Amino acid sequence: MAAHQEKKLAEERKHQNMQNDTKTSQGQWGRAWEVDWFSLASILFLLMFAPLIVYYFIMSCAQYQCSLTDPLLDLLTGNKHLSDIWNRTPMLTYRAAAIYSLWVTFQVFLYVSIPDFCHKFLPGYVGGVQEGAVTPAGVVNKYEINGLQAWIVTHVLWFANAYCFHFFSPTIIFDNWIPLLWCANILGYAVSTFAMIKGYFFPTNAKDCKITGNFFYDYMMGIEFNPRIGKWFDFKLFFNGRPGIVAWTLINLSFAAKQQELYGEVTNSMILVNVLQGIYVLDFFWNEAWYLKTIDICHDHFGWYLGWGDCVWLPYLYTLQGLYLVYHPVQLRTDYAMGVLMLGLLGYYIFRMTNHQKDLFRRTNGNCRIWGKKPEYIECSYMSVDGTKYYSKLMTSGFWGWARHFNYTGDLMGSLAYCLACGFEHVLPYFYVIYMTILLTHRCIRDEHRCSNKYGKDWKCYTAVVPYRLLPGVF
Ligand code: NDP
Repeated sequence: MAAHQEKKLAEERKHQNMQNDTKTSQGQWGRAWEVDWFSLASILFLLMFAPLIVYYFIMSCAQYQCSLTDPLLDLLTGNKHLSDIWNRTPMLTYRAAAIYSLWVTFQVFLYVSIPDFCHKFLPGYVGGVQEGAVTPAGVVNKYEINGLQAWIVTHVLWFANAYCFHFFSPTIIFDNWIPLLWCANILGYAVSTFAMIKGYFFPTNAKDCKITGNFFYDYMMGIEFNPRIGKWFDFKLFFNGRPGIVAWTLINLSFAAKQQELYGEVTNSMILVNVLQGIYVLDFFWNEAWYLKTIDICHDHFGWYLGWGDCVWLPYLYTLQGLYLVYHPVQLRTDYAMGVLMLGLLGYYIFRMTNHQKDLFRRTNGNCRIWGKKPEYIECSYMSVDGTKYYSKLMTSGFWGWARHFNYTGDLMGSLAYCLACGFEHVLPYFYVIYMTILLTHRCIRDEHRCSNKYGKDWKCYTAVVPYRLLPGVF
């Protein structure tokens, strides 16, 4: 079956290459067909070390007050053995397994069983059934956009429990943080493995599959483009948004509750982190329909990178600031806190406006106003697998005229603000901005490589008009 599918796909590729030979300005886009040694080495590194990195960060908070160097020093000087650290690590518990299963089941229920109501009464909110972008095979998927509703219902229940019902303590997430890590890993590996098997044996759309033949690459980067169960359960939309991003704000709230329990107050730094990251999360759900047009949905296949990443990496490492503040309750000077707030809000504004400008431009096919003027753009074209030619536009005005990814620049400013809210005593809370800088720079290069293949010479014209990637005049 897999061999047959590979042969079929290889034939399609050959056919496509022949077409591209005659139309050299365009190429086929999507993730790689062939694996170079650097990609393979990076993938093996991540598969081996990413779970350890997460464990190391969480363990160093639990056992070393968030110091990243002390565990290493202890090990290097022979003061402690790996087994000592491991023996002090909480194991998987029935309680954590029950909490996690209930959590995921509840999010699946909200996702598949309750169609969106929010768009009926919230002005300006785009929810309900929406269409994604054209896939490389020329398919347009439909999505039920109800993430905002799921976020609101979950948080209303959370606050109702915290203030009225008291079924469980709001510190429940913090109190089970490491046992829950094992549950998240089990789900992350299970879903990635299932996605790989599904990609080989019963893909949702065989034409949108990519099989390089390298097991590790296919496992990591995914085979299927948009795996689904039934008509509506879309893996990408669910796993990125629901267990991952809905959880983000709940995790932060649980950390704030723990501070209150331990020190009798919630520090201004914890409030700052909750507010700034809360805005980012709410923004994501308010714009969930826009998310359908981002790289995750439009270009990435669903493998370990997204499956495990959404279940483990995102909820555990994006929330490090809140976790750190439980161990180090930093109280910031008011003027410093205001500065951090301003930086966070400015970053958010740039991030949102840049994304909004592109969304508006693409939705209206350029018939809109950006900064009070008609947008400037470059006409471009590309082809899908079946050889159909499509036309598109690349905007060269507004924030998109300043740099090719100014939305990433705004995101990085916001990321820096979360970290600065934690003061300067430890490096651990700064992991986020370091990681985001690597992620977004790499993403930018990856995206540009793909766009260059997709648009050919039109992309060259675009980069000539907008020469910088993130910072005008610098990079
Ligand atoms: P973009 O929203 O920047 O989308 C890139 C795509 O937009 C390109 O592939 C191309 O797609 C199209 N495009 C590029 N240039 C132009 C242009 N000038 N005019 C019109 N369309 C253009 O990237 P992402 O999807 O990566 O990011 C979306 C947001 O999500 C960003 O703000 C980013 O910061 C954020 N993000 C956050 C992450 C996190 O972990 N917190 C992770 C990743 C992203 P096409 O093929 O349609 O032409």
